[in-house]
Amino acid sequence: MPPAESPVLSAVPGISWPAIPAANGAALLSVLFQLEQSQWWPLDRLLLRQREQLAALLAHAAAQVPFYRERLAGGLAQLPQTEDWQKAWRQIPILRREEIQAADASGAMLAERLPAGHGEWREIYTSGSTGSPIRSVRSQLWELIWSAFTVRDHLWHRRDLGGTFAAIRESGKGKALWPDGTTAPSWGYSTDAVFATGPLVALNITTPIEQQVEWLLRRDPDYLLTHSSIARLLAEACRAGGVRPTRLRQVITISENLRPGVREACQAAWGVPLVDIYSTREAGYLALQCPDHEHYHVQAEGVFLEVLREDGEPCGPGEVGRVVVTPLHNLAMPLIRYDIGDLAEVGEACSCGRGLPVLRRILGRTQNMLVLPKGDRHWPLLASSDLQAMTEAAPPLRGYQIVQRAIDRLELRLVVAQPLSEAEEDAITRWAKAKFGEAFRVDLAFLSELPRSAAGKFEDFLCEVP
Ligand SMILES: [Zn+2]
Repeated sequence: MPPAESPVLSAVPGISWPAIPAANGAALLSVLFQLEQSQWWPLDRLLLRQREQLAALLAHAAAQVPFYRERLAGGLAQLPQTEDWQKAWRQIPILRREEIQAADASGAMLAERLPAGHGEWREIYTSGSTGSPIRSVRSQLWELIWSAFTVRDHLWHRRDLGGTFAAIRESGKGKALWPDGTTAPSWGYSTDAVFATGPLVALNITTPIEQQVEWLLRRDPDYLLTHSSIARLLAEACRAGGVRPTRLRQVITISENLRPGVREACQAAWGVPLVDIYSTREAGYLALQCPDHEHYHVQAEGVFLEVLREDGEPCGPGEVGRVVVTPLHNLAMPLIRYDIGDLAEVGEACSCGRGLPVLRRILGRTQNMLVLPKGDRHWPLLASSDLQAMTEAAPPLRGYQIVQRAIDRLELRLVVAQPLSEAEEDAITRWAKAKFGEAFRVDLAFLSELPRSAAGKFEDFLCEVP
């Protein structure tokens, strides 16, 4: 299963091989052992086990989460044990971000209690570039399941865990700054509970591209994980400069939807394949790229993912619909039939033999760049901590869109549940200046609804400066 260079770590003195890992590693391996088998199951067998887990999730949500106590009333929490259970499932209303925001504001989204064994709670903030920040609360048990999919991706794509892994994704202010970035001894908690790995090096994603290239050449990693827009810029800069990180074997993209041409750019500049990951901070891993193809396999052991037509019925192969997800294992803050804001195209069954459902592509979001008064450009990415600070500055905030109207002027378009006080207006203006630069003039505009592009997609940051 794991590459030979990266044996399982033994936690028991006097035992080297076969290794006996510590408790958290043993739990992770037990999940991986099951994933190794279930990936080959036919779809109907996967659906049967998904129904069991969804039934457990619904029962918990209806009993422990105030929001669902109401929403699932009238028998919606009971799934029939018949083949057409999905018909009953689709009676459950689709969950929207605004509903999560409103319910969470009154404390109704969180479970009053977790079953034994689910561990502690962790919270993060995310907007997924949709412009509607939400809080997401995870249990430790759900994080264990996340780790299993992190490791599955390494195994599927035959990564040498002994190599150096570079990540250009951190967007927090002042973190992982050029020239050094940060260095950690292992790839992270997902892998190091089980495997000995090489080091992880990281750089802030808002670093100017020339400096990112310099860092990449200096660190010379085996693997590079970043957003697809950054991968493209790095590849183009390397190609133009006639330089190449010598050891690089694979590029891994996350966070943004993969745009056309990025695979080709990585291949042309570095001669390496690109592996894309479809995941979100609030719903976890949704789909991973097939080891043999460029399309994706839904991670059906961790999420029930529906692709729906306008009429709410499931799409068939070749059809594009909206993605509605139900993470199977987050009992701390269940998201049941959550409309994640993406569109996807359903694919045919995969010739690799895996029964996990196929998505041919994920469509959607684009990200504009911010132009600084000096003329530099960078991505105005909002980290979890930024969104938390923004929400705390103005608690009635329900939606935002940031528009750069001129080289020195930003407009914050806000949707609010109730008018902001003067202090809240000041606080959010200060937040914007601290985030984007003190040199900007910041205007606030209050709207009842945020505008969408001609294609119907929403962008949380727009730049009107040519
Ligand atoms: Zn496949």
